[in-house]
Amino acid sequence: MSKPADRRYADRYDLAIVGSGVAGLTAALTAAAAGARVVVLTKGRVEACASYEAQGGVAAAVAPSDSPAHHARDTVAAGRGLCRESAVRVLTEEAPARIEELRRLGVRFGDGLGLEGGHSCRRVLHVDGAETGRRIAETLVRRALESPSIDIVEGERVVALEPGRGCRTESGEIGAAALVLATGGYAALWARTTNPPGSVGEGIALAFRAGAAVADLEFVQFHPTALEGSGFLLSEALRGEGALLLDGDGRRFVDELAPRDVVARAVAERGTALLDLRPIDRGRFPRLMQRLADEGYEPAAGPVPVAAAAHYSMGGVVTDLDGRTEAPGLYAAGECACTGVHGANRLASNSLLECLVFGRRAALGALAGPAPSEHHPSPPALDEAVTDDVREQVSEHAGLVRDGAGLERLCTSPLLLARLLAESALARRESRGGHFRADFPHENPALSGRHTVLRPGRDTVLERWT
Ligand SMILES: Cc1cc2nc3c(=O)[nH]c(=O)nc-3n(C[C@H](O)[C@H](O)[C@H](O)COP(=O)(O)OP(=O)(O)OC[C@H]3O[C@@H](n4cnc5c(N)ncnc54)[C@H](O)[C@@H]3O)c2cc1C
Repeated sequence: MSKPADRRYADRYDLAIVGSGVAGLTAALTAAAAGARVVVLTKGRVEACASYEAQGGVAAAVAPSDSPAHHARDTVAAGRGLCRESAVRVLTEEAPARIEELRRLGVRFGDGLGLEGGHSCRRVLHVDGAETGRRIAETLVRRALESPSIDIVEGERVVALEPGRGCRTESGEIGAAALVLATGGYAALWARTTNPPGSVGEGIALAFRAGAAVADLEFVQFHPTALEGSGFLLSEALRGEGALLLDGDGRRFVDELAPRDVVARAVAERGTALLDLRPIDRGRFPRLMQRLADEGYEPAAGPVPVAAAAHYSMGGVVTDLDGRTEAPGLYAAGECACTGVHGANRLASNSLLECLVFGRRAALGALAGPAPSEHHPSPPALDEAVTDDVREQVSEHAGLVRDGAGLERLCTSPLLLARLLAESALARRESRGGHFRADFPHENPALSGRHTVLRPGRDTVLERWT
């Protein structure tokens, strides 16, 4: 994937982007179109990211009967009183233009729009059935490789951020005037996850160490129907078509179409459950059926075992609407960022859209922003490992249902991000969206609109954003 060695490292780039998912690639193409020389650094292979896994689609009010205002209303309703409405307006108003741009770049969206939970009308665009994320990412990669101004370098794990100077990787220094983080979320901190193993929030820890604020880390969406064992996602659409959730005695125990967090908690209470795909037209989901067959299941013969799994992280590095973090010279976009757009609960298919809208804005913001007036001493290199023990600890103490005692124990984790997550979850003494505390099982109206913000060396605060 890397371009030839002689072009691999320029002396200094205008912009270094950490992460090659849809957010990072969108930022790269935007910056290159604005005349910048860009490097995209990614710790693994380009395909090893959540963007390639996104099945359902990307939401945008493109139907004549729909409007950004409707889309915004649904987004705010899903976010349970915590969405930053200015970010929601930007997301939903810019969505149709970003879709048009993708079409111009060569993404071929399928006919018709999908309906997903929480959307009041059909507004989810898809490509090749459940291949939406992969096809969008592949198109963006192709365009980035064609650009003479963009270098994509695989196998470069960034271990320290030096805004204004660039960043450090495991193999050296990358000089860049501006820096955009697009490192994805942290749902792979849990032992059971739908995410690729690299989604452990390294960028969020790097940003915090570089002086940025982080917020809303306690909000994590758990998906109710991940295949037991592999974590492969069995989409909500299956239940929409009539697939049933059964307990070990073959009895239904929950309304399959209740909100995702309700269904996930009901499944988690039982540990595992069975998803019966026999009532539905399985031919409509060829890729999912093939994957089940590959895993050794015969959905026509009997139900398949499923469990709840960590799926999407709403929290991240605090940014304004142009991707600017609180560390001068550092910008962030995509799942690693927290604009407040998703509130306590992301509306389905709004996350790829977030990457498109805020990836573009972060690139433009980073190129326009002033260089930091002073350079901080370089932070020590990130040397933490996300071990199986850490994953077990996070799963046990910050799972779908948490409480103060478990979270206090997680505060002693060797992993910085696990400690920050525990501190955030302790500070939010209520249950809301993707955060359920057994010791505070109800929503507290006084906490509506208040984001849990952690700043290096400061006390946790619950603050309102405009
Ligand atoms: C199974 C599944 C299904 C989904 N379905 C949908 C859907 O239908 N619709 C939707 O909108 N969303 C969906 N999502 C969510 C969506 O895919 C993600 O929110 C989105 O793709 C995140 O994109 P990103 O660019 O922010 O990060 P990612 O795509 O995760 O990319 C992160 C990048 O950062 C790199 N990186 C991380 N740390 C470092 C480091 N230290 N140094 C260098 N590189 C680093 C990674 O290698 C990777 O390239 C789904 C997610 C999953 C897992």
